[in-house]
Amino acid sequence: MPSPSGRHFLQIPGPTNVPDRVLRAMAAPTIDHRGPAFARLTEEVLAGLGTICKTKSHIVIYPSSGTGAWEAALCNTLAPGDRVLMFETGHFATLWRSMAARLGLDVDFVPGDWRSGVDPATVEAKLAGDGARNIKAVCVVHNETATGVSSRIGEIRAAMNRADHPALLLVDTISSLASIDFRMDEWQVDVTVGCSQKGLMVPPGLGINAVSAKALAASKSATLKRSYWDWQEMLAANKSGYFPYTPATNLLYGLREAIHMLLDEGLERVFARHDRHAEATRRAVKAWGLELLCTNPAEYSSSLTAVLVPAGHDADVLRELILERFDMSLGTGLGKLKGKVFRIGHLGDFNDLTLAGTLSGVEMGLALSGIPFKAGGVAAAFDYLTESARHADGSRSSASAA
Ligand SMILES: *Cc1c(COP(=O)(O)O)cnc(C)c1O
Repeated sequence: MPSPSGRHFLQIPGPTNVPDRVLRAMAAPTIDHRGPAFARLTEEVLAGLGTICKTKSHIVIYPSSGTGAWEAALCNTLAPGDRVLMFETGHFATLWRSMAARLGLDVDFVPGDWRSGVDPATVEAKLAGDGARNIKAVCVVHNETATGVSSRIGEIRAAMNRADHPALLLVDTISSLASIDFRMDEWQVDVTVGCSQKGLMVPPGLGINAVSAKALAASKSATLKRSYWDWQEMLAANKSGYFPYTPATNLLYGLREAIHMLLDEGLERVFARHDRHAEATRRAVKAWGLELLCTNPAEYSSSLTAVLVPAGHDADVLRELILERFDMSLGTGLGKLKGKVFRIGHLGDFNDLTLAGTLSGVEMGLALSGIPFKAGGVAAAFDYLTESARHADGSRSSASAA
């Protein structure tokens, strides 16, 4: 086994590579979470997350994984036996459904093929058919991290509005926030669920809810049991910059730094960067002669790409080979996709040369694995990156000449 010199390539779709700036920011002394410096930190991160979620609503930050933020979204807004509409887009949507069922909700789980997103027409038909207005919430995973498929939240909201249905819209943006455009207020999302370790480039440990006025009103009468996750106590304490219990101080330092980096780059540029790296990755996959798991180009994910390996081959054997030989971690196939796909994460702290290294590791791994493929994927990706860079430089110089 080669010695692990050089950097490990962490190309799973979360946790993602944590930028050195963020790591350094976290290596500061822990401060009194009831002192004045802490209140300023709280205000800064809450405001920054609002900008990133494109919302003026309340932001709640828990010391938790994303799963905790899922639970918070459900138990703050719903009552036992409430009907919720959920969609089988993949492994994460399935886990969220299981949680909702365990919490005592009545889940209408629309079956899916794990290769496409939520169909807005199905949302409209389901809601239009609910004359008694029994459905209390529509829960959608914006970017299904198990499959590399993004659902179209804006179109789903439009479908809900056409059905003129009062259900809340709860959206898991865990692997889309700060990678793929998301507009909480414009799309009238009621609860945005996020966490720290994916596009936000912070280590695992922070769960996020953004809460609309409608969701906050629903929480006043929602009777699912909750204590740790209760928004009311959190929002009351946050008003003066504090938390009802000890927050994850050093992770919040990291989050503040990551927010600075994202807003300095500019959110729209961050999204364009992710789109471009995702397109380059897909060109590599096609040139290799391999199949993308996502079947609908309108739903391609910009944070990760899931790639099918040909039948008779095990994607996990390829992943192990790449880890041992090239010190790169790729995402495994989750749930029923185990062994069938590998996932390339291209989100967070990522640039052209990170992609070049990542795709080179995949192509060399394919060559060593015995999986049938065509060489030239890396070259196809480079051609696209070079062409699009030339285009961007050209428009920049003509802009400065004008
Ligand atoms: C990672 C992920 C989760 C789970 O988050 P944890 O931090 O592992 O609890 C949920 N939903 C999506 C879409 C994810 O990508």
